Amino acid sequence: MQNLNKNNFLFNSVSSVKGVGLKLRKYLKNKKIEKIKDLLLDLPYEVTDRSKISDLNELEIGKIATVKVMVLKYNFPRIRNLPNKVICGDKDKKIDIVFFNSREGYIKKVLPIGKKIFISGKIGYYKKRYQITNPTYIELENNESKIAKIFPKYSLTEGITEKIYRKLVKQTLEKIQDDDDWHSQQFLKKNNFRGLKETLLNLHNAEKKINIQSNDYRRLAYDEIFSNLITLLSARRIVRIKKKKKKVHNNKFANIILKNFPFNLTKNQKKILKDLNDDIRSENRMFRLLQGDVGSGKTIVGLIVAANVIESNYQAAFMAPTEILSSQHYQLAKKLFSSTDIKIELLTSSIPHKNKKEIALKLANGEIDLIFGTHSLFQKKIKFLKLGFVVIDEQHKFGVKQRLDLAKKGGNNCDVLVMSATPIPRTMMLSFFGDMDISRLREKPKNRKDIITLIKPENKISELWPFLKKQISLDHQIFWVCPLIEQSNKLDYSSAKKKYDIIKKIFPGNVGLIHGNLDKSEKKIVLDKFLKKIIKILVSTTVIEVGIDFPSANTMIIENANKFGLSQLHQLRGRVGRGKNESTCVLLYKKNLSENAKKRLKILKSTNDGFLIADEDLKLRGHGDILGFQQSGIKNFKFADPIHHKDLFLLAEENIKNIDINNIKKFETLIKLYDRAEIINEIAN
Ligand code: ADP
Ligand code: MG
Repeated sequence: MQNLNKNNFLFNSVSSVKGVGLKLRKYLKNKKIEKIKDLLLDLPYEVTDRSKISDLNELEIGKIATVKVMVLKYNFPRIRNLPNKVICGDKDKKIDIVFFNSREGYIKKVLPIGKKIFISGKIGYYKKRYQITNPTYIELENNESKIAKIFPKYSLTEGITEKIYRKLVKQTLEKIQDDDDWHSQQFLKKNNFRGLKETLLNLHNAEKKINIQSNDYRRLAYDEIFSNLITLLSARRIVRIKKKKKKVHNNKFANIILKNFPFNLTKNQKKILKDLNDDIRSENRMFRLLQGDVGSGKTIVGLIVAANVIESNYQAAFMAPTEILSSQHYQLAKKLFSSTDIKIELLTSSIPHKNKKEIALKLANGEIDLIFGTHSLFQKKIKFLKLGFVVIDEQHKFGVKQRLDLAKKGGNNCDVLVMSATPIPRTMMLSFFGDMDISRLREKPKNRKDIITLIKPENKISELWPFLKKQISLDHQIFWVCPLIEQSNKLDYSSAKKKYDIIKKIFPGNVGLIHGNLDKSEKKIVLDKFLKKIIKILVSTTVIEVGIDFPSANTMIIENANKFGLSQLHQLRGRVGRGKNESTCVLLYKKNLSENAKKRLKILKSTNDGFLIADEDLKLRGHGDILGFQQSGIKNFKFADPIHHKDLFLLAEENIKNIDINNIKKFETLIKLYDRAEIINEIAN
């Protein structure tokens, strides 16, 4: 066990490396390299090949090359700001070697007239002649071996030369101890993994042609997944270890709400409600994710549980990512709870300061039972008398750390429910939400008709006008989504503003525009108009992506649909199809769709099932294109890739079962390597 401390130098500051002074340390910090392990886990992204010696007539401008030339002539202008030049040549051609800020003496020493020299650097072209400016390497003919053949290339920031950086990495690589691995030899062997030192040596060795499927890379990916799982499961253990007071209730308020709710709950909603009610009644804290496709009816479930929590004499908080959404939840709750004496409030940043203070006071002395709001609910100055339940809606941007902070803030008696519409493929579930229990709402309310999805080229846009006219005459409403607000010549996006002007001319008096640059009150005015059906068409950027509920909107037009990810399109489409009318989603695309884009649009056309779409999405994406996950706000891994390392995810899930999560000391170095230690320390306190 003491062995584990051998590699502790990994967590020392880079300033402990020989040659790293204040200045270099600052540069490294800009690259987010502060500890030695950061240096080692920053893998080269490319290889510079200087092994081939090029003739001067086969040079490529802009590429790095090594040439073997004869030094012919000096050209030292001796005028300030003009560089010194040395003209060299081989059998075919001449090349200028250009030096800024180098003294004549030095130049004469490294490039003696008449000698054959190896010079390596980036090839430029100036006044009809090749040149190399400030060459990286200059070596005499008999020193060929010193021009190392192939170099790893790191994403450097200005101020650090490749040579210095590589030297730092090399120094630290040598210090790694390989005899204290957290994996057993047997495990390593079975999976074709190597010890940490060898793994890292290989990954930094440019001659090893590493890729994402190389065993060495896979070892890092596995370690990353595994440390993530340990963290999640530790979090899970710690949240549950402290017992809470059971919440006693008889569905008194819940039944009232249900009476006021115009629909019957689906079977699936009822089943989930039962689980949630069991959670709040139990002495274990609820720490649960309710995953349900857009429009599946999560809100009512959250509100009913809140009603039961309030009945058992606790306060409940309902948090949403935007003010618009919060205020919509608040309005709904006011209606549903109207015949009760439950005190409900809305706290957003746009309400007057005086009211805010009053609300804060009432939360602290228990006069408010149910509060709606955004992140503002979790400011330090907001205190609850007896918080028993927190619901976080659509808040998939919450990482493990934030979830834990929240649980902590709520206190030991606070149950936590996170509601998300982000469909995560089944294989990824544990890796993302292993700290929580999971409920899935898969059944949609019965009154829903599937959304009909059409795919159309943008040049046939005028075919839409009669269709839209008809929808408007039927008192239906329309979303029109454009990717960007300002026309950008560089990116071929449509502009919402421009589109708004066009549509306004066709449907005068019926069109509104909403985009990210409007301030909150302006946004609210437009959305209110749309809610009250004063306007029928809402042209917007993707701001409507969050779960606003407009039951009479039944048409969604998405421009440049091929520019969106599958999940994002599905979320957007989910804004319609919430009422009883048949709904349509039109995906407009510009000509020349890529094969991949075609497939994506087809999938969307063929199904309305968010979970299926998520799985397909995963299949379609290639490496380096895991963007959908980032877009959807789910934290990505640095090395592990959900597509290419699916087997490693499964392996890690299998192996974690054999770990005693109460005793994770053995994995301390591993957890620290991937920055999870802070989280674990946090929860342990
Ligand atoms: P989401 O899961 O995306 O948050 P919402 O909770 O906003 O979905 O619900 C979408 C719409 O479905 C709302 O208008 C809501 O009133 C309605 N709804 C919820 N449950 C049912 C049900 N059982 N039957 C019919 N409509 C329902
Ligand atoms: Mg919702």
